[in-house]
Amino acid sequence: MQNSLKSLCIVGGGTAGWMAATLLSTTLRGSNIKITVVESADIGTIGVGESTVPSIMDFVQACQIDLKEFIQATSASFKLGIRFDDWLTPGESYFHPFGRVGKDINGFDFYQAWLKSLADGQTTRWVDHSPSAIMAEQERFMLRPHQSENWVLSNYAHALHLDAVKVAQYCRELCLKRGVTRIEATVKEVTLDNKDFVRSLTLDNGTIVSSDFFIDCTGFTGLLIEKALKVGFDDWSHYLPCNRAVTVQTEQVNNPVPYTIATAQKAGWSWNIPLQHRTGNGYVFSDKFCSDEQAVETLVNSINGKMINEPRIIPFVTGKREKIWHNNCLALGLASGFLEPLESTAIHLVYKTLVHFIKHFPDSDFDVDNEQAFNQKIDDDFEEIRDFIILHYCTSGRDDTEFWRWCQTMPIPESLDIKIRLFKKRGQLEHTHGQFFSCDSWCSILEGMKIRPPKYHPLLDGFHRKDLANTLSENVKNIRATVLNMPNHYDYIQAHCQALVNK
Ligand SMILES: Cc1cc2nc3c(=O)[nH]c(=O)nc-3n(C[C@H](O)[C@H](O)[C@H](O)COP(=O)(O)OP(=O)(O)OC[C@H]3O[C@@H](n4cnc5c(N)ncnc54)[C@H](O)[C@@H]3O)c2cc1C
Repeated sequence: MQNSLKSLCIVGGGTAGWMAATLLSTTLRGSNIKITVVESADIGTIGVGESTVPSIMDFVQACQIDLKEFIQATSASFKLGIRFDDWLTPGESYFHPFGRVGKDINGFDFYQAWLKSLADGQTTRWVDHSPSAIMAEQERFMLRPHQSENWVLSNYAHALHLDAVKVAQYCRELCLKRGVTRIEATVKEVTLDNKDFVRSLTLDNGTIVSSDFFIDCTGFTGLLIEKALKVGFDDWSHYLPCNRAVTVQTEQVNNPVPYTIATAQKAGWSWNIPLQHRTGNGYVFSDKFCSDEQAVETLVNSINGKMINEPRIIPFVTGKREKIWHNNCLALGLASGFLEPLESTAIHLVYKTLVHFIKHFPDSDFDVDNEQAFNQKIDDDFEEIRDFIILHYCTSGRDDTEFWRWCQTMPIPESLDIKIRLFKKRGQLEHTHGQFFSCDSWCSILEGMKIRPPKYHPLLDGFHRKDLANTLSENVKNIRATVLNMPNHYDYIQAHCQALVNK
């Protein structure tokens, strides 16, 4: 028998804590590792985090969750991408769709073939080749069939808009049925041993909780990873200056659209996330360029529908822990770091961290090389997403406020600089296996910001102009015809997965 761990304690019962308990209780089933979650009703959860990316579907599947039940319990709507309003200049919009955009042709990236078609005089838009974008434009939706011969049906992707509080509640109930122990108490003290390992937690009721491994899901506080273990924080505010958000929920005015809306504002951007029963709204801004009062005013003026709660200010610092896994402690969710929610990636990072963790699952030897390999992987994930978010700011053409003028000359990481330079010259994007944002995603933002290389791949000159035009127009026709047969997004929800609260 190997030196297997016997117990795992998750501290915190927000989205991260209960997602961890759900996935681990599924994956570790049969391992005899006891899972305990400690959560504090006195401290509560952050209660935001409602827009996701397609990996939420992998989470649902990996946890053997019934999708329909999950959607009904969390009042979820479907999300096919993000509409970016006013980012290039006020009045201009573009769409970042999930899933594929176009089919590669004879081994060449579709983007290059599309560029050639433009040079040939064709006029299709980039998003005309994206099934998800056309579905979003027409507000149509249906779940993907398990298998399909039709390229359109097997190449769109979707995520969910979820009620954050209900996600934690749903996962908690599921975990309790699956044998996870829940302790409702506040951790008052974290005890370390002389090797910097967490030994135990002292709760406010006097109980001492010991465990072989701890997962810190205590939110921004980072009670174990930072307050106790002091691993340090890599601050990225110099790249992404937004450091506050104001949020408010509103009553639903129109039927929910199948996409998130991110609108550039004077000192940041605001979001609208339509759920089945209400809309989540927020304004992410920088206090160097905007006061809390101005931010509240901007948000309140930009929303439709009656406010359900009072606007709430949430301060944050952009960056990540220097080590997300240290000895017998893993940081997860807001405790591990934070990147503004422009591309809705925080819940995705929770899932990705858990996937890496399961792959590198420790035994009681706590091998340092294993910990280091894990930390390298998750660092790469954070940096990739950081660069992708910065891309939205540094390519904006706006110069109408101090904030946007700052963005015109903002510092950017070398990794991003190289990427943009190569794209501008050759339309080329380097993509490494395991990276979340595909070349299609990068092209969608760059095209949305009207950044197009002056030439296409030299070998595409071998493509006959007429053949290429026919292939592209066939694709566009196929997408439109297939999407036209899909039901309206709202009708689909009503028919198949209406939230329990609305029934
Ligand atoms: C403005 C904003 C918008 C966001 N939007 C999105 C989005 O659209 N999409 C997305 O994917 N993500 C988004 N996020 C991130 C998302 O909210 C979080 O990743 C997610 O909710 C996970 O939070 P958490 O569980 O780490 O922390 P929390 O929800 O803060 O939970 C912390 C838990 O720790 C417990 N706790 C703390 N201290 C103690 C203690 N001493 N003893 C016991 N328990 C303790 C608390 O009780 C609570 O249960 C957003 C975040 C912010 C700030």
